[in-house]
Amino acid sequence: MVKERKGMKLILLGSGDANRVPSLGCRCENCEKARRDDKLRRSCSSLLIIKNGKEILFDIGPDIREQLIREEINNIDAVFLTHQDSDHFFGIEYLRCLKYPLKPQAGKTTPIFAPSDAIDRVQEVFFYMIENREISVKRIKPGERTNIQGLSIISFPVSHRSYCSTFGYIIQEGNKKAVYLPDVKSLSKSKSILECKIPEIIRNPDLIFIDANGDEPSDSHISWKEAVRFGKKIKADKIILIHLSHAANPKVNDDQVIIGFDGYSKEL
Ligand SMILES: [Zn+2]
Ligand SMILES: [Zn+2]
Repeated sequence: MVKERKGMKLILLGSGDANRVPSLGCRCENCEKARRDDKLRRSCSSLLIIKNGKEILFDIGPDIREQLIREEINNIDAVFLTHQDSDHFFGIEYLRCLKYPLKPQAGKTTPIFAPSDAIDRVQEVFFYMIENREISVKRIKPGERTNIQGLSIISFPVSHRSYCSTFGYIIQEGNKKAVYLPDVKSLSKSKSILECKIPEIIRNPDLIFIDANGDEPSDSHISWKEAVRFGKKIKADKIILIHLSHAANPKVNDDQVIIGFDGYSKEL
């Protein structure tokens, strides 16, 4: 019997948005710099949590193949999706490679947990993987708690797009807590992220991985400045800025804030 170990390892597989950095065809300074220096590149945002030797993934964009090869991960036990935008779920296709004989995951069905309308999209696009029992789908409700590998994963609804529901996730083990919130405009429909009511359960995390898409807010994303202010408001020990676009130029001089990068990792 495998003895249960306390603690979890978090690996930020990707820190960019759907267009990534460099963005195709873009000649801006950030994109040009990233063409010359691999360390400045950003792939689609995704967070991997390793707990008791099991791998739980939050969002699986089209870059997942390169991300898992880079981190030498050969197994995924469960996937949680925040929403149905392509940069958060198109990588489900690559889970197939883990299912061939003689691989750790061979023969196993990987559950995909997501808001109900995102599950509809997964069923539409990856119906053949469901038929082959490579994946199964689990609809989760806002506020629902899922217990998996000694972790408690709680969804919370946020406003992001008008056409789909979006969740953030709280990942808890005992008194340790991380929040994953890659795409957010607010936690309410009528008030800004800095004015809305914040559920108690989100407060005081060890880490928050949070949307910092641009220098200014857009229709569907907050700015990196709002991300920092929100992280401080909920009293996060560390605020990790993620889902950065090529146009984001966060300037921070604060030990509490980390500009996320592909491959950032932390043990809790
Ligand atoms: Zn996104
Ligand atoms: Zn650019």
